[in-house]
Amino acid sequence: MTRIYNFSAGPSILPREALEEASRELVDYKNSGMSLIEMSHRGKIYDEVHNETIFLLKDILQVPDDYEILFIQGGATLQFAMVPMAFLSPKAKADFILTGHWALKAYEDARLIGQANVVWDGAADKYTRIPDSNEFTLNKDAVYAYICSNETIGGIQWREFPLTGSIPLIVDMSSDIMSRPVDWNKVSMLFAGTQKNLAPAGMALVIMKKEMIEKAAKNLPAYLRYDLHAKEKSLYNTPPTFTVWMTNLTLKWITSIGGLNEIEKRRDEKAAMLYKAIDESNGYYRCPVDRNSRSTMNVVWRMLSEDLENRFLKEALKQGLSGLKGHRSVGGLRASLYNAMPVEGVKVLVDFMQYFMQKNG
Ligand SMILES: *Cc1c(COP(=O)(O)O)cnc(C)c1O
Repeated sequence: MTRIYNFSAGPSILPREALEEASRELVDYKNSGMSLIEMSHRGKIYDEVHNETIFLLKDILQVPDDYEILFIQGGATLQFAMVPMAFLSPKAKADFILTGHWALKAYEDARLIGQANVVWDGAADKYTRIPDSNEFTLNKDAVYAYICSNETIGGIQWREFPLTGSIPLIVDMSSDIMSRPVDWNKVSMLFAGTQKNLAPAGMALVIMKKEMIEKAAKNLPAYLRYDLHAKEKSLYNTPPTFTVWMTNLTLKWITSIGGLNEIEKRRDEKAAMLYKAIDESNGYYRCPVDRNSRSTMNVVWRMLSEDLENRFLKEALKQGLSGLKGHRSVGGLRASLYNAMPVEGVKVLVDFMQYFMQKNG
C-alpha cells in the first residue's frame, strides 16, 4: 500500500511506525490472547500502558513534579467549559487574548460562567497576528490569563508565551503540543485535544499545576472535577484506552527519532521550505499572515481566485497530496505540518506548487 501525504488539520497524520505497531498488536496484544482495547482498564496490562504514557509525557516535555498529567475525554472543547467551571464565577475574572477561532470558542464558554475580559482582540486585523507583549495589560485580579498557542484555522502561533507574573497562564496547545518544549515557568496549565499531533480523537491531554487542582471547584458533577481525575490518576471512569495506547506509541516514536530536538529540527525545515515556496512565487501564492506570527504547524495561503484554488486542490489530490483545503470558515489552502508529516512530504508539495504555477501561471 502507498500512503498518501495527509495534510489534514485534524484528525491528522500519525507516525507510520506507531500505526504499524498498533496494527501488529491489535488483535492479540503481546500474546495475551485479546486486544488491549477489549481488556479491563483496571487490569495489569492496561495499567502498564497508562502509566508508561504518563511517564513518557513527563520525560519528553520535562514536566516538573508539581504538575499533574491528566487524560480527560471530550477533547479540547470540553476544556473550554471545564476551565471556567473550575476557576470562574460571576464574581471572578479571567483575561482572554483573542487570536482567532479557537481562543474565541474558549472565551464564549467562559462568558457563560464568569467575568471573561478581552484584553486584546485581533479582529481588526482579521486575526492575522499575535500581539506584542506591550499591546495588552492583564487585570491584577484575574484568576487566570488565557491564550491559544497555535490558531489551527488562522495559521498564527505564539513564538513565545507571554509573561503573566502571578496570574496563572492557561494555554490551549491542541495543534502544537509535542512540537515545542513548554516553558513551565510561564505555563500553569495546558490542554490539547489529542487528534492533531498525538493520537486519534477521543481525549484531551491536560497538564496542570497541583496547586491549580487544589483551587479548582469541587461543587461540580464528578466528571467535571479536575481533583477527581487527578486523585484517580485519570481512571475515575473508563478512559479511552485506544487513544491512550496510540499516544503511547506516538511518544515512543518521538523518543526513537531523538526527542523534541529532532522534532523541532524537522518542524523548522518543513515550515521554512513551504513559506519559502509561497514567498518566492511573486504573489501567485500569498500568505495572509503577519510574518512574525506565522505558524510552524498550519500554513495557510491563498491563490488568485477560488477557481484556481479548487483546481489546485483537485490536481494535488491526484499527486497524492490530500487535506489541503482551508477551513470552511476562511477558505483558501492550508497545509498542516504536524510531527508525523515527513520532510519528504513537504518537498513533494513544494515541487507540486512550482509545477502548478508554471503550468497555470
Ligand atoms: C481542534 C482544536 C480544538 C478543538 O478540539 P476538539 O478536540 O475537537 O474539541 C481546540 N483548540 C484548537 C487550537 C484546535 O486546533
